This record gives sequence, C-alpha cells and structure tokens, in this order.
Amino acid sequence: MPLQPTDVLRSVLQGQRLSEEAALALFERCDVLSLGGVADEIRKRLHPEPIISYVVDRNINYTNICISRCSFCAFYRSAGASDAYVLSRRQLFQKIKETIGLGGTQILLQGGLHPDLRLQFYCDMLRFIKREFTIHIHGFSPPEIIHFARLNSMSIAEIISRLRAAGLDTIPGGGAEILSERVRSEMSPHKCSADEWLRVMKIAHEMGMRTTATMMFAHSENYAERVEHLSKIRQLQDETKGFTAFIPWTFQPFNTRLGGMPVFGVEYLKTLAISRIFLDNILNIQASWVTQGSKIAQLALRFGANDLGSTMIEENVVRAAGVSYRMSLSEMKGLIADAGFQPRQRDCYYNFIDGVSEKGN
Ligand code: SF4
Repeated sequence: MPLQPTDVLRSVLQGQRLSEEAALALFERCDVLSLGGVADEIRKRLHPEPIISYVVDRNINYTNICISRCSFCAFYRSAGASDAYVLSRRQLFQKIKETIGLGGTQILLQGGLHPDLRLQFYCDMLRFIKREFTIHIHGFSPPEIIHFARLNSMSIAEIISRLRAAGLDTIPGGGAEILSERVRSEMSPHKCSADEWLRVMKIAHEMGMRTTATMMFAHSENYAERVEHLSKIRQLQDETKGFTAFIPWTFQPFNTRLGGMPVFGVEYLKTLAISRIFLDNILNIQASWVTQGSKIAQLALRFGANDLGSTMIEENVVRAAGVSYRMSLSEMKGLIADAGFQPRQRDCYYNFIDGVSEKGN
C-alpha cells in the first residue's frame, strides 16, 4: 500500500526521520497546508523564540565572464561581449565601502568561471579586501573552486586553504542547483558534477570552514531528483555538521536558453516545507524573497523558514533573469514584524549581532 501523507506527517511529529520514499510521497500527494503546518511546528521546536533573522550584505559578482554557459543562467557573458566585465579594485572598494556604510557585515563574492584568471588574482583580491575593510567574506561556490583547481592544477584542499589564508571566511552553497547527474548533464554539462560539489563542501567542513547549502528547483528535475538532492545534503551534514543553513529557491527562466515559465507560491512553499521536514540536521532554513517577492517570503515564515536572508544591497544574477524585487532594511524588519516575529540581525554563523542576546549554531 502506498505511504499515506497523513501517516508520514504524524510520524515526523513523533520524531521519526523522513525517509526518501516518504519525502517523495509528500511531494506527490500531500496538500500544501498540511505540509506547512508540520514544517512550522518543526521550526518552532528548533527555534522556540519567535525570532526571524536576517543579514545585511551585498552580492558582489567580480566578473560575468564564464565558460560554463549553463542553460538556466542569464548572467554569464563570453570574454569578448560588449558588456563583459571584471571588477576593478576601485569598483570593489566602492561597493564594500557603501555596504559597510549601510550597516553591512559581509559580502557574498562570486563570479563566472573566468578562463584566464589564475589563483593569484583571487588571493590578491581577498587580501586587498581584508586589508581595507573589516568584513566577512562569504565567497567562491564549489563550481568556482573546482574551476580554480583545474586551471591551476591544484587539489581542492590546496585551493581552499590558499583562499582561506588570503581571507576567505565561509563558502556559499551556490552552483548546487539539483545534485543529480542526469539534471546537471542536461543543464550545465561544463560545470562541476554533483559529487564534486559535495566533495568541495566535505573538504571545507573537514578543514573547519562553515558553508551553506542551496537548491535551485522547478526547471528540468522531477520530484525524485529533488529528494535525491535533499538526501545528499542531509547525508553530508550527518558526516560533517558543516552546513549552517539551507536555501531553496526557484529557477527564474527569463533571458535564459532553458526558458519556460517561473513557478511561484504553492510549489515554492511546498518544497520549502518538505526541506524543513527532511533536513532535520540543518538548523536554519532561509526564505527567498529575491525570487518570490515579499508576500510569499512572509508566508514562508509559516512554512518552515526561520531566516529571511539578506537585504541584498546588490544582486545581479536573479535580476539578469528578469526578476528584481527590492527590499530596504526597514521593509524587511516590517515584513518580519507583520508576520508576528521579532526581526534580528545576524552574522554568517547565525549569531545575533544586534546586541540583544546570542544564538549559537
Ligand atoms: S550559473 Fe554560474 S557557472 Fe553557470 S553560466 Fe552562470 S555564471 Fe557561469
């Protein structure tokens, strides 16, 4: 007899870990409100205080030149394109100065897979930032690290350790998309494989670095592949405990070769809720107002999310795909408060940094 969603949800509330089979049953047959109710209950158990955290930061994309040419990406350019760029030191300086002026505590530093820039370029960039500013650098997702390793004929561990010595603090979970080789070979055949993505994260965790995990969904994957993705993340977290947070967000199709229509609301909330239920070993789940807008992001706070992510003083990648929601700091705080929570600013390790009290991770 097929698994019944109500039985699955009851067993979850009794403390049973969700199996892959049960997760698939939830994706295929469970109504979104029941999922939301259980995800919200789990969020409350993990975060009993009615607090939703956020971070003030800026996404800085140091270059849009990329040889990967993923079919879902509207951001990349070839080296000869008229709007191709590599940020100058001066531009970098201005962006970080402005971020700090707006109360920012970190930058997300990511770029395309540039064919020519050697490791020295990135290490110099990190040293320059750390010399000029006191700011946390969350940077270089696994595809970039794999690219650096190939281009410089170095091991992953050596690349990470050099970047870290130059000032890298934590690694973002970008480039995970869906950790299934079938999906990746179709959408991003030149990018790192699922195993390589996981290997970078494992090595970083073993070296004592914290990272985040992401999932970009609703493109060419099926539900079983979403479950496969969640399962791989959970397995690695069982081993290393290195992920600070999980951030699911939906594919934005405009201006991309892959195309299609974006999914909104219900599919997003359902996937968010199942992620909260499935990933019982990851403390923080982030809502994506950047792809969903403020109203759905607010609802997400009742579907398992305990964090609203970044104020994103700057964001280029999703904007290139035709979506450009903006949110000021006061709007973000208001949105959290209107949903019945207390907004609290955090750092990249999910410690509160607004002086009221501390939350560890
Ligand atoms: S998603 Fe990243 S790796 Fe893929 S084309 Fe865009 S910038 Fe390049």
